[in-house]
Amino acid sequence: MDITNLSKYSTLSLEARKKLIELLLQQDRDIRLIFQRAADDLAKEIRRLEREGQTSQIPVLLDAMLAESAMSIEDALSELFRSGLVISVEAGMHQSKQATLRILNKAKIDWKPIERVYFRKHAAAVEAMQTRVIKGLTLSDRIWGQSRVARQSMGAIIQEAIAAGEHPYRVAEMLEGFVRNGAKSLVSQYPDMIARLEGNIPMDMCYESLRLARTEMAAAFGEAAMQAAEINPSNEGIRWSTSNGGNTCDKCKEIASKDNGLGPGVYRLHEMPEYPAHPNCLCTLSEVVEELDSFVDRLIEWQANPLTHQDIEKWYQTVYKTGEF
Ligand SMILES: [Zn+2]
Repeated sequence: MDITNLSKYSTLSLEARKKLIELLLQQDRDIRLIFQRAADDLAKEIRRLEREGQTSQIPVLLDAMLAESAMSIEDALSELFRSGLVISVEAGMHQSKQATLRILNKAKIDWKPIERVYFRKHAAAVEAMQTRVIKGLTLSDRIWGQSRVARQSMGAIIQEAIAAGEHPYRVAEMLEGFVRNGAKSLVSQYPDMIARLEGNIPMDMCYESLRLARTEMAAAFGEAAMQAAEINPSNEGIRWSTSNGGNTCDKCKEIASKDNGLGPGVYRLHEMPEYPAHPNCLCTLSEVVEELDSFVDRLIEWQANPLTHQDIEKWYQTVYKTGEF
């Protein structure tokens, strides 16, 4: 693995990284909007009831209103995670897939079977991410948990505000302020009420969902990068790099500098530490491959005589052939 090799693939790995980062930024905005929309709908309903002289109905209807709100959050988050996993798995496979198709093209080997293998692995990786269980919870359980947090905290604010004798319009404003600016923004205006609510409402209603999305998308990227690397016959390992942010934690620094004989931070697939190393981990993974021209030469030799390169023959039998049918 030398510098020329690196430069050949860095574009693909940067493209993959860019896809993931853009997704995360878009999801951050979308998640905030999902919670804002839910709080705004509740606020609107409270104002409507007041306007129509039904203020006394607010406590009666509250449970049903909150249930509807939680359901809309759950639906919107589920869709966001579903479409996000498709994109992050694609990003995780990008470098390996493009590199492999190029190599096969150069050696004049039909690349369609291998494209089918990538396609199947993509679907399997998305499925695996959606169904994996962590601490007894599936992804949909955790998304449901997020909608429940929103339901409970919005419910607690509304109930406390009504009990404190606040006008429904103020209650609506509090909800809108809380979802946008967090619990702290309410402290100056309603210090007693916020003190009573302490521990029952999160400082930022979106925080856990934002964190969950980043962690899940990074994990999908990592899972996809591993699965894809297995399909690339020139794969030598995966490099774990810290971000350039400068505030990398010690755990990630250690992972990115450990030398397993392939250079700092480069791991054989079965030796890879769990990625991401922690929530909000900004480290990135890229594939380390055999030098392109010499690998293409080996492929051409192997085509003439499969006994010359047993590693390629093994890849042909166990990977390539499975895409032929
Ligand atoms: Zn990290």
